[in-house]
Amino acid sequence: MISGPSTPGWPPDAPADRSALLVDFDGTLAPIVDDPAFAAPLPGAVAALGALAGRLGLVAVVTGRPVAAVRRHLADPRIVVVGQYGLEREVDGVVVPDPRVVPFAPAVAALADEATDRWPALRVERKGTIACTLHWRERPDAAPAAIDLTALAERHGLDAWPARMACEFRPPVAVDKGTAVTALLASDLPEAAWAGFVGDDHGDLVAFDALRTWADAAPGRRSCCVAVASVEAPADLVAAADLVVDGPADLEAMLDRWRVVV
Ligand SMILES: [Mg+2]
Repeated sequence: MISGPSTPGWPPDAPADRSALLVDFDGTLAPIVDDPAFAAPLPGAVAALGALAGRLGLVAVVTGRPVAAVRRHLADPRIVVVGQYGLEREVDGVVVPDPRVVPFAPAVAALADEATDRWPALRVERKGTIACTLHWRERPDAAPAAIDLTALAERHGLDAWPARMACEFRPPVAVDKGTAVTALLASDLPEAAWAGFVGDDHGDLVAFDALRTWADAAPGRRSCCVAVASVEAPADLVAAADLVVDGPADLEAMLDRWRVVV
C-alpha cells in the first residue's frame, strides 16, 4: 500500500455479511500482459477472494472481459462475475447478454473485420458478439489516431471507449461499470452497509462515482475506492481513490491480510 488517508475504510468496520467487495480483473487481480487471452489472476488473490466469498455478503468481479474469460480462473460460484461492463451476467450458471446489445452483433463483427484489415499489426480481441477491443500494447509505434478510432466507431454505429493502450468498441447502450455496480448492489446485497471497489483503468472511475453515490443515498452506508497504481494508471483514477495500492501483487497481499482477519 503506497498511500491513503488516515481512515481509509479498509478493512470495513461493517458486519461481514453486510459488506460487499467488488474488484476489476485485468490490471487489478491479473497483471497486464501483452496478449489479454493469457492474463491470469495472482494465485493468492484467487485464494483470498474464495475465502472472503464465504464470509462477506457479496464478492464480485466487475470486468470488461467476457464472463467466460474470468470463469476460467475464478470457478468458485460464490464469486459473482459481471462481464462486459455489465452487459453480461450469469443466470443459473448461464451467461446472459443484455438484450439491448443483441441487435448490434453484426455491427461488432463488421467493425472487428475492418480493424483487422486496417491495422494488421495490431491485436483485435473479439469479445463474443458484444464488443471488440483494438490493442496496441505490442506495437505502440502503430497506435491509431484517436480521430480514426472515433470515425471507425461511428461508421458502425458503435461507441469507442479508451483503455490502457487499447480502444474498446461497444454498442451504444447506457451501461458501464458505474451502472453495473449500482445494479449489482441493489440486486445482490441491498442491505449492504459497506462496499469497496478496486480498479486500475479509465473505466473504473465511474464505478468509484457510483459507489459514492450509493453510499450517500442512505444513512449508515460507507464506501472505499481503491486504485491499483502502475506507470499506466490514469492520474484521475489515482487522484479519486481513497486508497492506492502498488500493483496487483500489493492488492494480493492486502486481500490476503483481510482474509485472515474477517
Ligand atoms: Mg482493469
